[in-house]
Amino acid sequence: EGTIRFDDVHFHYDADRPILKGISFEVPAGRTVAIVGPSGAGKSTISRILFRFYDITGGSVTIDGHDIRDVAQESLRHAIGMVPQDTVLFNDTIYYNIAYGRPSASRDEVEAAARLAQIDGFIAHLPEGFETEVGERGLKLSGGEKQRVAIARTILKSPPILILDEATSALDTHTEKEIQTALGAVSRGRTALVIAHRLSTIIDADEIIVLEKGRIVEKGTHHVLLARG
Ligand code: ADP
Ligand code: ADP
Repeated sequence: EGTIRFDDVHFHYDADRPILKGISFEVPAGRTVAIVGPSGAGKSTISRILFRFYDITGGSVTIDGHDIRDVAQESLRHAIGMVPQDTVLFNDTIYYNIAYGRPSASRDEVEAAARLAQIDGFIAHLPEGFETEVGERGLKLSGGEKQRVAIARTILKSPPILILDEATSALDTHTEKEIQTALGAVSRGRTALVIAHRLSTIIDADEIIVLEKGRIVEKGTHHVLLARG
């Protein structure tokens, strides 16, 4: 369930400036495909198109054979889980930040998601910037830890399709490893599109697509692309 297909997709925000110039690729159900490329290449635009924040100007995008123009935005938001780069945490414990939007989730389910994302040590705390009624300060979380809160939220939501926007900021190697372990846990068995800025940060993709200036310039497996440099 959840095969994504882009067929000769064209897109522009402003008519005089094409952003996607005829891109075609498939993410087969249950597989992970990564899109890498320099900033401005059009990577995030692809995820916005999948949520139908913007309609394409040519070609077609389908999920399981259905043109997404015929799918309600609401259904897409249920089917697609997004782990963003920057997560804003609200004034409640990390536990409730994870359980957000899932009132029926049990304590066991929330804790299991936190464990998979490796943030189970923090769930009783408020995030930085907030304090409890007795004046206890919230916890300062690193960018990587915040992203793991978003990962736990997505694990709990358990959508068939995932979009993972990998952190661009310079993370130390240890943090990068922890995030990748967590991303591996959330993407297992799902259809996943990983947006990454550097080839070196991707570990587990079945296929890697290199996007430059709105065109796919290369497709291949990790070791083939690394070998070519
Ligand atoms: P990437 O994720 O690869 O860094 P984006 O998909 O975010 O690239 O952006 C691709 C290009 O589209 C960039 O040149 C960017 O400036 C432009 N762009 C992004 N969003 C908008 C917008 N809302 N209006 C006009 N141009 C935009
Ligand atoms: P649900 O509909 O499953 O209860 P939400 O409506 O809060 O949950 O969000 C649905 C999905 O849409 C989430 O995975 C969320 O990350 C994603 N989403 C919501 N807004 C945006 C946005 N502006 N950009 C990208 N993804 C978004």
